[in-house]
Amino acid sequence: MACDASADATGPPRHRTGPGGPDTAGLDAAARRALALRAAVAAGLLDDEQPVAGLLDVTGVRDSARALREAFATPGVPVTHTFAVKAASLVPVLRLLDDEGIGCEVASPGELALARAAGVPAERTVLDSPAKTRAELREALALGIAVNADNEEELTRLDALMAERRFAPAPHLSPSAPASRPSASPVGLRVNPQVGAGAIDAMSTATATSKFGVALRDPGAAERVVAAFAARPWLTRLHAHVGSQGCPLKLMAEGVRVAYELAERINETVGRRQVDTLDIGGGLPVDFASDEVAPTYREYADLLRGEVPGLFDGRYGIVTEFGRSLLAKSGTILARVEYAKSAGGRRIAVTHAGAQVATRTVFAPDAWPLRVLALGPEGRPKQGDPVPQDVAGPCCFAGDVLARARELPPLDEGDLVALPDTGAYYFSTHFHYNALPRPAVHGYLVADDGSVRFVTVRERQTAAEIVAESGAAHAEGLAALR
Ligand SMILES: *Cc1c(COP(=O)(O)O)cnc(C)c1O
Repeated sequence: MACDASADATGPPRHRTGPGGPDTAGLDAAARRALALRAAVAAGLLDDEQPVAGLLDVTGVRDSARALREAFATPGVPVTHTFAVKAASLVPVLRLLDDEGIGCEVASPGELALARAAGVPAERTVLDSPAKTRAELREALALGIAVNADNEEELTRLDALMAERRFAPAPHLSPSAPASRPSASPVGLRVNPQVGAGAIDAMSTATATSKFGVALRDPGAAERVVAAFAARPWLTRLHAHVGSQGCPLKLMAEGVRVAYELAERINETVGRRQVDTLDIGGGLPVDFASDEVAPTYREYADLLRGEVPGLFDGRYGIVTEFGRSLLAKSGTILARVEYAKSAGGRRIAVTHAGAQVATRTVFAPDAWPLRVLALGPEGRPKQGDPVPQDVAGPCCFAGDVLARARELPPLDEGDLVALPDTGAYYFSTHFHYNALPRPAVHGYLVADDGSVRFVTVRERQTAAEIVAESGAAHAEGLAALR
């Protein structure tokens, strides 16, 4: 994989190529990042108190949101884009995406609370989770957010909750709401098309034995799903999310095709267009080896148009739930090299970016390699002939290493490392090892003249907060129990 510091240009900022026009002029993402890294140092965003921080490129997020909207836009087809909140569970991020017309896919009460705090409207919120409690389901139906049931037992729970609502309709429901639809919530069923695994097992949700959805190819399952829809007029959606990073586009499209064909079969059987919307999940992979955006939303949408043309002919609405692909390329972790040492003939840069901010990379380095940019103390690309170095984190276990024997210009105390492509599932998905604080996250906007403005996305967690959330209020509890 590419891992050279020269990925960050030192020369004058490059301009985007391709069709120009006022709204596509400007610096490309790598040029913006290079400027932001320098500006972050100059602004004092790193110091002894905060030796690691997350940086988020506002322009990059808006650009990927626009690319997503444009790729799926089809005359006559209602498309609702939602963002998988687990990929970057930060309120200002959800608010920014809302500003771009993108709602939220939530999978826990916490994620729902974040979406609501960001002001995301109910009609652009989808609840998916394999383990929804009755209380969660009841709240979702009261709010009118979309719900995708994971399994047949959940449908039985929903029967009971729908009956509750029928006898005590929520005040916000119009009196003309049909009795067949006792909640404003569109309700769907998640199916597992069992089309197989991608390159990363833990990210593959459409295997034969995946824990998600109704396994469609199991004996009798498809028939039972058809009957479940026939018995429930309020069940109007099908949902399939084939997997995340590592799933080839063909496999993802195959899963969508299976869901589409099932929708056709259900509608034929019940004799009306009961299934009116297909939720096709997320999962577009991200290129972690370069600054390229590949594959693109356009490529995926075009593949779907070819493989599942009926999805775009106006008979169905489409819901998407992309996470990683919307945010990954726009995030960078910046961390200080605290010490540079050597062991067994290998150079080791001990940095402040480890398992607490790059959990997957540390625990599954082969599946989740990251680029490392070697920077000098001012945040500019470090010069010097590359030598193999380990880039280690601050956690007290031997495996807390971000990159092994990586060829980089020699890193010294006081230098910095930057980890590109960490906008999704990295600094926003903290691992509380060693009581290391959640680092601050700063958003940046780079003007065409190269000047950089920062805003706070999340403040650094303080030691007092760590103490409080670690049971300080109950300090005497255990010792007093004798
Ligand atoms: C995680 C998840 C997504 C988003 O996956 P990405 O790979 O981040 O795009 C979408 N839908 C569901 C149901 C998920 O669990």
